[in-house]
Amino acid sequence: LVFLGIESSCDDTAAAVVTAGRQILSSVVAGQGNLHADFGGVVPEIAARAHAEKLDLCVEEALTKAGLTLARLDGVAVTAGPGLIGGVMAGVMLAKGIAAGTGLPLVGVNHLAGHALTPQLTDGIGFPYVMLLVSGGHCQFLRVEGSDYFTRLGGTIDDAPGEAFDKLARLLGLPQPGGPSVEAEAAQGDAARFDLPRPLLDRPGFDMSFSGLKTAALRQRDALVAAQGGLYERDRADLCAGFQAAVSDLLAGKAARVLAAHPAPVLAVAGGVAANRTIRDALETVAQQAGVRFVAPPLALCTDNAAMIAWAGIQRFRAGQQDDLSLIARPRWPLDQSAAPMLGAGK
Ligand code: ATP
Ligand code: FE
Repeated sequence: LVFLGIESSCDDTAAAVVTAGRQILSSVVAGQGNLHADFGGVVPEIAARAHAEKLDLCVEEALTKAGLTLARLDGVAVTAGPGLIGGVMAGVMLAKGIAAGTGLPLVGVNHLAGHALTPQLTDGIGFPYVMLLVSGGHCQFLRVEGSDYFTRLGGTIDDAPGEAFDKLARLLGLPQPGGPSVEAEAAQGDAARFDLPRPLLDRPGFDMSFSGLKTAALRQRDALVAAQGGLYERDRADLCAGFQAAVSDLLAGKAARVLAAHPAPVLAVAGGVAANRTIRDALETVAQQAGVRFVAPPLALCTDNAAMIAWAGIQRFRAGQQDDLSLIARPRWPLDQSAAPMLGAGK
């Protein structure tokens, strides 16, 4: 089986060709980075228009790089949600057009299922496994029981860590995306200088909170600015180090609780924040202490991409599920709601 995958739910336009044998024949990701630079965040209308402009080219490039024509494919998988509705619609419309024009099966995929099934694609792990999905828009622990069977164990009750990193970077005058800039600063800093909170860490349960931590870091910044008229290089590095250490403690602390309560052979991570070395190392240590294998896909497959969508589509298709031209784009779509039925799924 060979599937084309299409992804356009946030600010990356992506297309990929993947086989059921876990081969990624091509994976093209076109970001929109500077299109939104002046606005301090992704602007939905701008994103949708850019997706509409770029999708065709991405698909063409993915097919060319894979050395295949549409006629050689076995299906088309597309992110049908959750995400910014204009972008998701642009992808779904293109996928429908391809399916209608070629007669290829069409499979709608939940974007989060794409992230959650990535460790299977990259490392060939079996079910079940525990997954921490931690990105700019999401933060949750999942127990993955099957390719269409996810149990959400807990997650952030406010911000996602990625957006907190981005916000902190913005307020410290560091470049976006914030995660890598904060990590670079943190490498020079003293994580112990500022006393930052670890909300909910000692509470039972698997929910997490990051907004209090963000606010506390900003208060420290404001106090420094008030006291000395600005920030020294040193202050910035120490704040970044403290913040990163707190996020790392929160994620690792909760991961340890999750593994204790829901034993599984593997702890997997995905999402852009999983690129952070300190966070990755802390999670790996937790897995080792629990006697569990740790799997972290390569960065390019941790962040948004279409290979994961093609892969998740292949899994749905193998399970006998596919969609027809009534497939709709869904702005919200919780993962532990079954991926099927897609039809009339406006609820
Ligand atoms: P989602 O996938 O949830 O829809 P997204 O597109 O923002 O949202 P990703 O592309 O997976 O998510 O990740 C981007 C986020 O990851 C950004 O918030 C970015 O700051 C963060 N990030 C990237 N690298 C690092 C890093 N080294 N340390 C911490 N955070 C990072
Ligand atoms: Fe994503």
